[in-house]
Amino acid sequence: MSTTKKVLMLPGDGIGPEVMRQVLRVMDWMAKKRNVNFEITEGLIGGASIDAHNNPLTDETLADAMAADAVLLGAVGGPKWDNLPFEIKPERGLLKIRKEMGLFANLRPALVFDALVGASTLKEDVVKGLDIMILRELTGGIYFGQPRGIEERDGVRFGFNTLVYSEPEVERIARVAFDMAMKRNKRLCSVDKANVLESTVLWREVVERVATDFPEVEVSHMYVDNASMQLVRNPKQFDVMVTTNMFGDILSDCAAMLTGSLGMLPSASLGAADKNGARKALYEPVHGSAPDIAGQDIANPLATILSFAMMLRYSFDMGDDATMIETAVQNVLKGGLRTADIMQPGMAKVSTTVMGESLINELDKIA
Ligand code: NAD
Repeated sequence: MSTTKKVLMLPGDGIGPEVMRQVLRVMDWMAKKRNVNFEITEGLIGGASIDAHNNPLTDETLADAMAADAVLLGAVGGPKWDNLPFEIKPERGLLKIRKEMGLFANLRPALVFDALVGASTLKEDVVKGLDIMILRELTGGIYFGQPRGIEERDGVRFGFNTLVYSEPEVERIARVAFDMAMKRNKRLCSVDKANVLESTVLWREVVERVATDFPEVEVSHMYVDNASMQLVRNPKQFDVMVTTNMFGDILSDCAAMLTGSLGMLPSASLGAADKNGARKALYEPVHGSAPDIAGQDIANPLATILSFAMMLRYSFDMGDDATMIETAVQNVLKGGLRTADIMQPGMAKVSTTVMGESLINELDKIA
């Protein structure tokens, strides 16, 4: 039996529309072969929306996003819009949609595909088989805390920010983290600096309290300085890591680089759960609009396809289908196909379109 899943597609700018076309193919395949009923709406965001409406995110598109079960975004931005005033730059569209949808949980998986293990700067045995998830609090903490500013006091200039978390803010991200751990290997590491920062003493207390609702999950706590060392020393010790906005900003980029390839990295941002447990959610590749290669059919579509797989897992509870897509990606790479960004000696360089086609062939084989 199929139930309708409302998806808003926002291809955006640069390579966004090219990589999104390959996702549409995968969705079409799923509709036909897996009996999944997607109701797809397309909208404009970023530069594309500025060109059409003089606004990087219109109220209509925002309303579509709020009404959708999930949003898939390509990328925004490019040199054409670089000189616009700050308020109507393409990136404002992205910031606004994240804010309006209340996306407080940012999920960044770091997954090393066997075929690409050589792309990491770390030794093969350290990263082979790596599969961790970094969960970053996205709307609170020191990036938003008040007071903030630069001011002069008695002739000396001070720059200051405030690191503040309320108990409900910590609790909601902790709950997402535990849910995530339950869908993975049931291990959660909460990263803080509770030896120095009171805000993260509270963070740790709240994580401990929420943990009692998830007895199956093994919880640990780590100071952020140690966590950064451990991520590079032995990243495979982790399953899910949850942390504050600023620590997560840094650790997720560090974890991303364990994999070594920007064109392969998906992400998700989740909002609060409604009374049925459904969350607002936006999925997007980590990379930008890559204006240097846009329109040439050479971009790597896999980060966006893997973002779609995350949508299946986290918005639609279709973990098996998500795994199937991830396996198809593994197999295509194992077969020696590479887009230019991940090209290695002895492999076959293929276009965006051929990568998409090959993935569909692989899905046919697996299904
Ligand atoms: P970028 O991620 O767009 O590109 C960095 C480099 O990686 C480029 O050489 C590009 O060709 C390459 N690259 C990126 N994605 C690729 C893919 N899928 N396949 C093959 N190669 C890929 O970052 P940038 O150059 O710093 O930014 C370009 C534009 O994108 C800017 O306008 C920036 O503001 C915007 N941007 C948007 C987002 C977003 O929409 N979330 C994120 C980052 C940057």
